[in-house]
Amino acid sequence: MLNYLKYILSFYKGILNSFLSNNVKISSPALNPIVSNPTNNKSEKLSEHFSFEELTITEEKDLIEENRKEAENFKDSLTKVAKELLEPIRIGLNLPVRITSGYRGKTLNERVGGSLTSQHCKGEAADFEVQGYDTREKRIEVIKWIVKQGFSFGQLLLERNIIHISLGTKKEIAEYTVDTKKKIPLQLS
Ligand SMILES: [Zn+2]
Repeated sequence: MLNYLKYILSFYKGILNSFLSNNVKISSPALNPIVSNPTNNKSEKLSEHFSFEELTITEEKDLIEENRKEAENFKDSLTKVAKELLEPIRIGLNLPVRITSGYRGKTLNERVGGSLTSQHCKGEAADFEVQGYDTREKRIEVIKWIVKQGFSFGQLLLERNIIHISLGTKKEIAEYTVDTKKKIPLQLS
């Protein structure tokens, strides 16, 4: 059996080498035809598609380094967010998911006007957008789809430009306005 496998392997190696020696470019079809999240080689993966860098990102450039340093203490929960919440969305929809905010230390959270009890500060939440789903109606479609999947989450919030999802089991679904810090239950039917 082993010899047979070795034979098959050498057979294919032979074909491959003859292709290469003829300068024939072999392009293997991508496993996932749609581009995954942009991550550079230095980034540390928390799950198949999401990196530590993505889950510690902020537009407040002067705070990004400090934020990432603090986030080291919350890697376990960030990994859970990536694996249990973001991956099922990324894989299920088969579309790139861009994280706009994951872990937020106290300083960053204050700067962006986050709630004092925000799960972002414990590395338990992420704000994201799905490629192509960039209107309110489209975001509601994503929320409905997530609810239909039946996996556990704490909060699923529709915000102005993003969707917020967090770890937990209470499955609170609402529309949240950052300016007023008000949550209104979201009717999905
Ligand atoms: Zn959020």
